[in-house]
Amino acid sequence: MDELSNIRNFCIIAHIDHGKSTLADRFLEETKTVERRKMQAQYLDQLELERERGITIKMAPVRMMYRPTENKISNLKSQISNSETKILDFSFYILNLIDTPGHSDFSYEVSRALEAVEGAILLVDATQGIQAQTLANFYSAKKANLTIIGVLNKIDVLTDEAERAVMRKELAELLEVPAEEIFLVSGKTGEGVRELLNAVIQRVPPPRASEGMRQVLGRALVFDSFYDNHKGAVASVRVFDGMFKDTENIYLVATDTSSKVKELGYFMPELRPQKEIPSGGIGYIATGVKDTDKIKIGDTVLSLPPGPVRRNELEDLMLHGYKEPNPVIFISFYAEDTNEYETLRTSLQKLKLNDSALSIEPDQNEILGRGFKVGCLGRLHFEITAERLSREFGVKSTNTFPSVRYRVRTKKGEWIYITTPEELPQDHLEIEEPMIIMGIIFPTKYLSAVMSLQRKFRFSDMHTETIGDRIKLSARMPLVELVSDFDDNLKSVSEGYASFSYEFEAYARADVVRVDMLVSGNSVPGLSRFIPKETVEREARRMVEKLKELLPRQQFTQPVQASAEGRIIARSDIPAMRKELGNFGKNGGDRTRKMKLWKKQQRGKKRLKERSEATISPDVFKELLKKE
Ligand code: GDP
Ligand code: MG
Repeated sequence: MDELSNIRNFCIIAHIDHGKSTLADRFLEETKTVERRKMQAQYLDQLELERERGITIKMAPVRMMYRPTENKISNLKSQISNSETKILDFSFYILNLIDTPGHSDFSYEVSRALEAVEGAILLVDATQGIQAQTLANFYSAKKANLTIIGVLNKIDVLTDEAERAVMRKELAELLEVPAEEIFLVSGKTGEGVRELLNAVIQRVPPPRASEGMRQVLGRALVFDSFYDNHKGAVASVRVFDGMFKDTENIYLVATDTSSKVKELGYFMPELRPQKEIPSGGIGYIATGVKDTDKIKIGDTVLSLPPGPVRRNELEDLMLHGYKEPNPVIFISFYAEDTNEYETLRTSLQKLKLNDSALSIEPDQNEILGRGFKVGCLGRLHFEITAERLSREFGVKSTNTFPSVRYRVRTKKGEWIYITTPEELPQDHLEIEEPMIIMGIIFPTKYLSAVMSLQRKFRFSDMHTETIGDRIKLSARMPLVELVSDFDDNLKSVSEGYASFSYEFEAYARADVVRVDMLVSGNSVPGLSRFIPKETVEREARRMVEKLKELLPRQQFTQPVQASAEGRIIARSDIPAMRKELGNFGKNGGDRTRKMKLWKKQQRGKKRLKERSEATISPDVFKELLKKE
């Protein structure tokens, strides 16, 4: 039954919230992959945070068995042009679907998923139209040479025929196909879902036959990895050549790691063990590898005959496109005491097991103590990580400002990378910061509103182009601006109608200065930042005022200061919290009680003085990052 001609590998790509996971639900139902009584909305979103926030963070593959029937074929004819209608074979098909996360932060992972399949369903929410990530995803699918099927989704909401026609045309123009080839579907009501599934069978080509290889028994792409409590480190794979058997040895090329397969099988969507995964298939391999760091997304896994591994020969078999995940936003977490340090350490390790893109290294700070510097793929990834740490693991920690990685040229002419101002060498020659290219899409009437963000977020090299009745603005922007509340600002000036995606461009000279914040005369380490020279005075003033508002009052006045280049550039005072001693008198207290209380307060003050400056909650950072 695993004839190549009966296999279809495809994924669903779309802008966030356009209905990928919901459409996947309908596919699971239509193919009876998940029993009706077990069905729940966005079935493939299994993480708690995914379910709660309604977003897909993790890629989810599923293998479905499907047999189209006569009746379904006649439905199909009404939707696609006659020239394309081939007679469908009524045998069983194996449909391997990968549901993908839509956000730019995960674009590398999505690009690997695209390499694992032959076709893509490009969904567009009929009420929203083409959005920034629709374009980004479309271009990646095109680059991966996939057969792309355009779908207008949520048509239950858009009932007007004329409006449907407009939206259909817009998507057809992007895909360069006739408008009739764009499917009309509702993932909610199920309308058009069968026809779409049949179109996948008809239009997406089956996997190409393997050319066979001399040195190895099988070759596959690792498009994702995760950790299973029973099975250990697991790789999600697409087999391109030969065969993987549960009795063989495997070799991971990029990390030069050999192991023996512990188990392999298919996503049903729960893990179902098999004896083998043949060429063309998508499945999982429980690798038996202890160190999960060795399983890299984009790596090539080989199935080897017994005998010594000849690395040189095997390197040539690597599938193209592998790169190291590239964290761009860094944040350090510090525990307040030793017990919490252990919790922090094990929690981060557990997170990393399921999120191989996270980078984690030990970090030490004079005042904040021992901690870890965590690297994330972008702002959403960072938010998710911070939230999972506190919610899934209950970690209480102090953190630093999220920061990008600056490139600094030292006196000796060497380039070094730093993520905190504390690491900046005294005698540096220049500082560079990472730049991104933004693509922002919005209805034409918001053009001036979006352009108004130019100064605040340091846009440069702007270009515009029109897409139907909307504008796509491309601009260069320092990545660090994304860490501030760029998205909130964009949402608010466009009343929620603008969307954006971005990609890393290059490093460019940054005219920034180091600003330190002092509370009661002591520098608060987590609060040091680089700030562009042109806005440093204003920004320092704002930070000082914000801190005054946000930091808890103590029983004494606390001056808050900002210092840059050896001088104080802004200052404000947090007034003391007063507890009226007299009140106790009125309530019948006597003098000795007052004295006792006074003494207690003195001791408390001392204790607080010792530690108050060091504890700053994550909410404070969030507030500080907002621009006016
Ligand atoms: P994803 O981010 O692309 O995976 O989108 P989801 O599948 O999580 O859906 C986003 C939101 O759109 C959810 O609230 C869904 O209930 C809703 N939704 C999805 N498909 C449809 C549809 O066909 N019609 C309507 N009315 N709502 C839908
Ligand atoms: Mg989703």
